[in-house]
Amino acid sequence: MPAYDPNNIFARILRGEIPCKKVHESAHSLAFHDINPLAPIHVLVIPKGPYVDFDDFSAKASAEEQADYLKAIGDTARVVGADAGGYRLLSNCGVNANQEVPHLHMHIFGGRMLGRMLKREGE
Ligand code: 5GP
Repeated sequence: MPAYDPNNIFARILRGEIPCKKVHESAHSLAFHDINPLAPIHVLVIPKGPYVDFDDFSAKASAEEQADYLKAIGDTARVVGADAGGYRLLSNCGVNANQEVPHLHMHIFGGRMLGRMLKREGE
């Protein structure tokens, strides 16, 4: 796994160098709207700590950070009303998943029918 890049876009959002449309904040987590939404509801929840992806976070984050992050994801879904119709959580981790921003983020998608989970190979 590559070392954490402190200049990635979400690190810059956390430092206040780049604006975001904040939805929710907790001691160890921040949630904001995705800049290029793929659904009527599309928000991102990130830990405030320097974790590259879910694998890095689950291996290294403290129990307090992990509990905070899990709760922040559920709280964020309720803040944006995604719980009403149901939602999808997705976190791209590494190369196979096409992760673009190397700071752990959980996508919350909602507000419409989201279709099947993944395309089958070759589709
Ligand atoms: P990934 O492919 O890494 O799972 O998703 C990265 C997500 O970050 C994309 O959905 C993209 O639209 C979003 N994103 C990239 N740059 C910014 C930004 O500067 N601000 C916000 N709010 N979202 C961003």
